[in-house]
Amino acid sequence: MSRPIYARHVNGKFHKLRATVSLILQSLLFVLPWIEYHGRPFLLLDIPHRRLYLGHMVLFPQETFFLLIILLSAGTLLFLSTSLGGRIWCGYACPQTLFSQSFMMIERWIEGDRARRMRREKGPLTASRVIRRGLKLTIWLVMGIWLGITISGYFVPIRQLTLASWPVVAFFTFISLLDFGFLREMVCHNWCPYARFQGALFDNDTLVIAYDNERGEPRGKVHTTPGSCVDCSLCVQVCPMGIDIRDGLQLECIACAACIDACDQVMDKLKRPRGLVGYRTLSGRRRLVRPRTIVYAAVLAVLATTFLYLATHRQLLAVDVVRSTALFNATPDGRISNNYTVHLINRRDDPVAVKLSLEDMPEGELIAPRGNPVTVPPASVQAVQVLVVRPKADRPVVSFKLKANEETVPTTFVGPGQ
Ligand code: SF4
Ligand code: SF4
Repeated sequence: MSRPIYARHVNGKFHKLRATVSLILQSLLFVLPWIEYHGRPFLLLDIPHRRLYLGHMVLFPQETFFLLIILLSAGTLLFLSTSLGGRIWCGYACPQTLFSQSFMMIERWIEGDRARRMRREKGPLTASRVIRRGLKLTIWLVMGIWLGITISGYFVPIRQLTLASWPVVAFFTFISLLDFGFLREMVCHNWCPYARFQGALFDNDTLVIAYDNERGEPRGKVHTTPGSCVDCSLCVQVCPMGIDIRDGLQLECIACAACIDACDQVMDKLKRPRGLVGYRTLSGRRRLVRPRTIVYAAVLAVLATTFLYLATHRQLLAVDVVRSTALFNATPDGRISNNYTVHLINRRDDPVAVKLSLEDMPEGELIAPRGNPVTVPPASVQAVQVLVVRPKADRPVVSFKLKANEETVPTTFVGPGQ
């Protein structure tokens, strides 16, 4: 375990910006699982039923490529944002940072800011300290449970969460509490894969948070040294990662900009220009259009276009046919018969009556013991057992013809029929 970090709170324009973004993103996270579209979840990854509810679309396993496009787009967007603005994702949008900050805010309200907490930690274990600690843990637990329920709501319909869902909720609650309450910066530092490779996405024009060495050094007391840095260590005290930005670009830095706010306040008090610690590029230029940003933007555009095209050209009724037994049966009248399981996939928002028939097989007979047509509920899959009886001399493949609500749907090749 590394030494505990008692980050000091700092106000400032970047803190306000981060708090606003955090409020918007957290509100979205908490509200989204409650939103319904046509009576079903707006966004849900239903693992047991192998479905992804995404806005007006319900995606089945046959459409996993949509999920792949979404993941690739998210990755490319992350690459693009990193190339342009360094670790802005870490500082302003990563749930790890946002929820850690929320948990730290509760800690600060109950146990006091950095100096008071450090003093208390060194002192004896008083009743007040125990009560404060208990209160903090209780509120953290409530936040963890709320977060646990919300995250579970992305995998189980949140309105259908019951006592039986407690293992899922308990799992996410435990993870949230452990992560945002206790581990915090250790997750970024030791386990986050993005922190490891983001350096490869940087170039000399990437925006990073850096200390102006030339202006700041030599550091020392006010009026006694020519450098602007008065070595007040405020930038270090506010850092949630416990690092000193004056040591240069570091893997641990999550670009939260707290050190900028802190140093700007010091410069304001000293009536010196702001920006001793600030956003800058290694090249000193601000160049947004660069070969790598063009490539990332182009890939993103291709992915978005592909997604839109596929989403607007989806086959709303699909069929997947599996022959139930490998062998055919000979009927007493000299014909042959095969059993099939026909999976009717209805991707529409309304029920559909599907009538099955055989294509190009005038002498063939389709027997559906449970009735034909079959009504398939909205956004669901219906398995239908059918028997196909036909003359032995017929062609060796069977194609099914589908009529949905009296409208013919393109048929699907089935495969050998004998
Ligand atoms: S060095 Fe500055 S920007 Fe980086 S994590 Fe620390 S406070 Fe945030
Ligand atoms: S806050 Fe600014 S002045 Fe103070 S130590 Fe950091 S860089 Fe130097």
